[in-house]
Amino acid sequence: MKKRMLLVANWKMNVVSEKEAVNLFNSIKNVIARNSTIEMIVCPPHMYLNQVAQQVINPHYNIGAQDAFPDESGNRTGETSIAMVKNAGAKYVILGHSERAHLEDRTDVARKVTAVLENEMTAIVCVGEQQRDKNWKKELVQQLRDSFNRVPKKYADQIVIAYEPAWAISSDKKNPATSTQYNEAMEVIKKELQKMFKTLKAVESIRFIYGGSLDDKNIEEYMKNTDVEGFLVGRVAHDPRILMTMFRLIEDDFEKKALAALNL
Ligand code: PEP
Repeated sequence: MKKRMLLVANWKMNVVSEKEAVNLFNSIKNVIARNSTIEMIVCPPHMYLNQVAQQVINPHYNIGAQDAFPDESGNRTGETSIAMVKNAGAKYVILGHSERAHLEDRTDVARKVTAVLENEMTAIVCVGEQQRDKNWKKELVQQLRDSFNRVPKKYADQIVIAYEPAWAISSDKKNPATSTQYNEAMEVIKKELQKMFKTLKAVESIRFIYGGSLDDKNIEEYMKNTDVEGFLVGRVAHDPRILMTMFRLIEDDFEKKALAALNL
């Protein structure tokens, strides 16, 4: 395993006051502070980024933005710029989330990816097919090409790819991808990235995570059957009790794998 497991908590629009945001972050922070195997990335609404970032006193957790406009400043009513989220304390930015697909296309996402990387933050780039139909692989490949077409390989270690099939996200049916489906997608994604970046080393520097209807009941399947390097959660991202169970499961798995590597 390259680094700590990532656990990205996307609060979306589900936290509605500064007080709620700070209190929620502090209850999550108290759990993660004792944890040595996970890097937690909390992504509050832009409104509360700054207040939440002020609570960060430990490298085990960090703050991410849920999106950012790729210019530093300008006449863009209602937008939040790259410079704004960076100055507010974001170290990560989620980009290309399927819930924003009606507002942007992949050309916009590509501009955002480049801007985030050039501003020394980490881009969490979401990719994933709408449906597992006969075209799903092509759709995934096209998303990668469109998102990374202008990205030099020197930025690989600032990239996290979140495989988030649109059909699995926040679905009422709670329908996560299976670990087999995750592995199939990873095969497609890694092969395409290797073609694009022309080196295996760049691909090895990128981190790959899964998101879509995850919780404490299904997370173990991925750790057992895949080489996933982290998770992105939405619905359970503001439930400290579920997050705590997920932390524990990730930590137990990490320890189990470390002991197995030592043949103990
Ligand atoms: C998401 O919105 O990226 C997500 C993974 O949501 P959920 O966990 O609710 O499926």
